[in-house]
Amino acid sequence: MRELEERILKDGKVLPGGVLKVGSFLNHCIDTTLLAHMADEVASLYKDAGVTKILTIEASGIALAAAAGMAMGVPVVFAKKHRTTNVDGGVHTTIVHSFTHNEDYNVVVADDCMDESDNVLIIDDFLANGSALRGLIDLVTQAGASVAGVAVSVEKRFQSGGDEFRAKGIRVESLAMISAMTDDGQITFCS
Ligand code: 5GP
Repeated sequence: MRELEERILKDGKVLPGGVLKVGSFLNHCIDTTLLAHMADEVASLYKDAGVTKILTIEASGIALAAAAGMAMGVPVVFAKKHRTTNVDGGVHTTIVHSFTHNEDYNVVVADDCMDESDNVLIIDDFLANGSALRGLIDLVTQAGASVAGVAVSVEKRFQSGGDEFRAKGIRVESLAMISAMTDDGQITFCS
């Protein structure tokens, strides 16, 4: 999506360790005009996929997931992160390794949020090594629901997550796909 790529080039900041900071327009301060265009793009990509629900993970996936849910007219669920293993019953739970914080979280969804009738679109802000999406797919599977596909704002193609899910036959759509980032701030997109 050209508009998102241009904004990343203008306002994104490359941090050491292959992290792209987009807090000034995407996941701290949010440019709602850009967000609405991104949501329309997700809705258009998945318009014929029979999506009944969107699942994301707190906190940074929620904005795009909610906007896409409104654009598609479907409900949104966000998985909650807990640092402890002390999780009540009546939930589906899995473990996700945070790429940015280098920490493991229990990730939890109440078991009445999704069921076998659901065809779930999974949304997140970034796809790097795939731990967050792996956890969300696990939660969908535990609920007996099916995965319609994945949509992310930014996929870093130089990390392994995208290849892993595509090799499993999961549809992955990325609104911006970065092929390379250098420590001096150069960002290259896949053509
Ligand atoms: P993964 O689980 O695919 O390794 O990493 C995806 C998760 O880590 C996303 O939920 C996102 O919050 C965070 N993340 C991964 N890479 C980046 C990045 O370059 N910038 C930001 N802001 N977050 C990232």
